[in-house]
Formats: sequence, C-alpha cells, structure tokens
Amino acid sequence: MTLALAQRSIRSNPLLLTKEPMTDGTTRREFLGSIAAFSLFPLEQEKPDLILHNGHIVTMNAAEPLAEAVAISRGRFFAVGKSADVMNLVAPGVRKVDLGGKTVLPGFIDAHSHPAAAGLSHLRMVDCDLRSISAIQAAMRERAAKTPAGEWVLGFKYDDTKTEDGRPLNIADLDSAVPDHPVGIQHRGGHTGYANSLRFRKAGIDEKTPDPPGGKIDHDQATGKLSGRVAESALAFFEKVIPQNFTRDDHREGVKLISKMLARTGITSATEAQGTPTDLRAYQDARDSGDLLYRAYCFINYRFIDSMIGAGVRTGLGDEWVRVGAMKLVCDGSISERTARLSAPYEGRPDDYGILVMTEEELYAYGRKAHLAGWQIGTHANGDVGIDTTLRVYERLQRESPRHDPRFRLEHCTVVNDNLIARIKALGAIPTPFSTYVYYHGEKMRYYGAERLNHMFALRSFLDAGICATQASDYPPGEFIPMMALQSEVTRTDTKGNVWGTKQKITVEEAVRVGTINGAYASYEENLKGSIEPGKLADLVVLGRDPFKENPLTLVTIPVERTMAGSRWTFES
Ligand SMILES: [Zn+2]
Repeated sequence: MTLALAQRSIRSNPLLLTKEPMTDGTTRREFLGSIAAFSLFPLEQEKPDLILHNGHIVTMNAAEPLAEAVAISRGRFFAVGKSADVMNLVAPGVRKVDLGGKTVLPGFIDAHSHPAAAGLSHLRMVDCDLRSISAIQAAMRERAAKTPAGEWVLGFKYDDTKTEDGRPLNIADLDSAVPDHPVGIQHRGGHTGYANSLRFRKAGIDEKTPDPPGGKIDHDQATGKLSGRVAESALAFFEKVIPQNFTRDDHREGVKLISKMLARTGITSATEAQGTPTDLRAYQDARDSGDLLYRAYCFINYRFIDSMIGAGVRTGLGDEWVRVGAMKLVCDGSISERTARLSAPYEGRPDDYGILVMTEEELYAYGRKAHLAGWQIGTHANGDVGIDTTLRVYERLQRESPRHDPRFRLEHCTVVNDNLIARIKALGAIPTPFSTYVYYHGEKMRYYGAERLNHMFALRSFLDAGICATQASDYPPGEFIPMMALQSEVTRTDTKGNVWGTKQKITVEEAVRVGTINGAYASYEENLKGSIEPGKLADLVVLGRDPFKENPLTLVTIPVERTMAGSRWTFES
C-alpha cells in the first residue's frame, strides 16, 4: 500500500484528523503507533464491515490488554480501542453490534482433541455418557427400534466410573436391552469396549477364545462366561467385522456436527490430534460447504507420514481454516483408563507401572524422518517415564540435526518432575495437559494419589518455568468446554468438592492465556490468532458473565452468548 493511500484513508477519518498531524515521510504505522487509545492495522480496505462496541474486551494483547470496541474488516480485526474512538469508523454500510457491556475474550483454542472422529461417532452412534445402566439400556433399545434387525447398534462415551450402579456394564445388560442386533459400546477413554452375545458370535469369540497379545477378553469371575468387556488389542476382533462404510459425505457431516458443538462453547480452533488423510479431506470438504466453524490444525498419524512426505507436504501447509499439523506419535498409555507409564506404581496396585506403546527406537526412527522433512512432532506422553523417553528422542534429534524452532510437542505431558520441566524448557517444547480432568474425572484421581497430583496437569510449574502450555480437552476422553477448563485449572477441584494438586492452581488470567494465545503458539500461528489485536483473525467469544469477577467454583456455569470465527457468528444463543 502506498503512503498516499494510507494518508487518504486516515485523513478521511475525522477522529484521526483531530490527533497530531502527520508530516510527509511518516509511515502510517508510526503515525498510528502514536495514538495510544487506538490501534489500526493497515489493510487496504478503507472501512470496516462490522463494529462491535460497548463491550468489556479482554484482548490478551499485552500492549493493549483491555478495550471496548473492535472494528472488523474481511474476517480480521481492523481496529481495537475505546468505543467512542472505534465508532468514528462508522460509515454507510458498516454493521454495528452493541455488546451491552458483556465480556469478550479471544476465541478459545483446544490444542488437543479428536473432533472429526467424535463428530462421526455423534452422527452414527448412541451417546452413552449417561448416569445409569438402565438409561444406557433405554438409549440402545430406542436406537435398535429404528435400526433394521441384524444391523449394528453402536454406542460411545460410556464411562464405568460415572454410573450410579457401582458396577460395569455386562453382557446380560446388553442382551436384555437389544437381543436382535449386534451391539457394541466404546468406553470414552477409547481403550475398552462392551458387546452383547450376538456381537461376540459374529466376531467368532466364545468363552474359550484365548486373549490376543496385548489384549484381554474378560470373563465373569464366578461362571467363567464372557463378561461382555474386551480391552486393548482384543477390540480388533470386532473392528474386523464392523463394516467401516462411512462415506465421504458422512465424514463431512461429522465435522459439521462437531463444529456446532464446539462453537456453542466458545471454541474457534482445535487440533485434530490423531488425524488421517481422510480427516484432512473431511475438513476441506466441510470448509468448502461452509460447515466448518472452527480452524483445524490437523495432525497426521505416523502411519501416513511416508506418503505425506512423498507428496511434499509438511507442517503448516494449508490455510487459516485447515492446516497440516504435526506428525503424531504415541509413547505410552492413558490417564483416564489408568495405563500411563509411571516411575512409581499406581495407588493400591504395587506391580502396575502402566504401559509403553512404542519403543524408543521406533519413536526415534519416525521422529527423525519427520524432523528432517521439516515436520513438527507431537508425541502422546502421559506418565513421567513416557515423557522422559520422548524428551530423550527429541534431544537426540536436535543434537544430531539441529533445527530452528522445531516446537516439539508433548501431548498431555501429565506427570512431571523438576528434571523433566528443566528439559522441556531447554528444548522449547510445548506441553498440552488435560484441562478439564481434575474437575470432570475427579473419581479417577485417587488412582494417582494426592501427592502425585501435585505434579500432574502441572500448569503452575510450566508457567513458572516459562514454558508455553496450552488448553487441551482430548475429547471424547475429556470434556471440551473452555469454561470448565478455566474452573478446573483455577480451582483444581472436582465436581464433589475434592481438591487435587493444589500446588498447580493458576489464575483466571493465566488460564485464559493458556486457552488462547498459547494455543496459537503451539501451531505456529501466534501472529495470526490467539489475541484481539489489529491484523489478527476476528475470532472471539462473548460471555454472559465476566470470568474475572466470577466465583471460581462457578466458572463452568458462565453462559456463552456468541462465538465468532473470522467475522462470522458461528454460534448465537
Ligand atoms: Zn488424544
């Protein structure tokens, strides 16, 4: 843009003419930088499309932390400042929205989730996040009534620790609810599943079938008959006989469905943490049909890395809606299903240290390939042993082939100690700890013990060490509601009032930062989004109450009134 154009656009604005005069040779940026209460971004368009005014806008921009109004042009913030100043940009055709004094934050960034797969599940399966076995039976029965006999009836998000019955689902529960359809229900953690008799028969499993390597077929202790539950690699028996006949449209519809669910809670960006080429296509399809309501940073599972590298693809390819993310590796087990690899055993299970999923050599071999091809790497590492192993691989990669700013990611990075934190800091690595687990999965915390909880989901330790940690749900295993993340991180208190790991509490301001600008940094997009400042993408959330004035124990009840991504309202209550 030429100086003349800049001068014309500024001089056409009466507000700016009342400020100090601009002399020849002063750039627009320098000129604007001298106006304290008001900052503009030098877009070529001379007027905004939309102005939001009379708000309490918490920007997460250190240079201008609070504002009252924003002007938006072509999907980006054009001006941020006081209402009286920004309203001077009003011109014929500019839409105005009065925020009524409501609190506005940058749109939330969920740095680790599984939205595309979850969307497909919500589209095709029964949501079994219910509080009694009879409620689950009723939901499955209802779905079966609408499903031709013999066809699959599938459920997901069942959680054995959250039903009032005090016992897990069993084969008899499922047989009595749905006898004539093969039934399968996944645990929300994703590592175990439950089936009725017909499904076991279809899969060719009976009570004499031996456990496969790395898997388990559970039996009733008293009778020796199938209990209905299978774990880990035994799930593959069923996967072989469930037709995976999702169409290209189904995948797009799944993204459309989950888009609405995320937008309702204030999320404007999410990392697809176990993405595949199919997910990448689904995101592009949903973007093109106008159904994608959050910006997707799509990781690629290591199994696809050769073909991606062969096609010349690397992290960062894409646009502001769909972008290729890191290569995903998996080092150890899960927190919610108590299989993370720990240096000290689980409480009450003296021989159980959890599991390692990939060997260090495998992690290194895949990691090296991706590192040399310019990929970011995100490795699932929950337990302290898993994190130590992953860091050793990252340190070796940087030692052998140093790369500027690789931003290695530690997906979850749950159980830490001082040594691990120092190494994370030295590498500039990014942890993505579970944000809602303390609040939502309190009943699972006792397996880790009170002392260990002071070193889990360790946001206080990360922030004190100057490490950029993010907000992350891991949905479906964890809930994705950003206000729940804030409450969990600030109070470290579960739904029953138990406090877990009080040393790791952070402030509301820190939790918002973790959920916005830090998430942008984790995907190399800190200059594009994560704060409300001129030139950045117009992603924001309007809240019904101010989280900075709220009782921290009721943060989760703050309603989201509106969500905007790129100047489009993706949710309006
Ligand atoms: Zn995950």
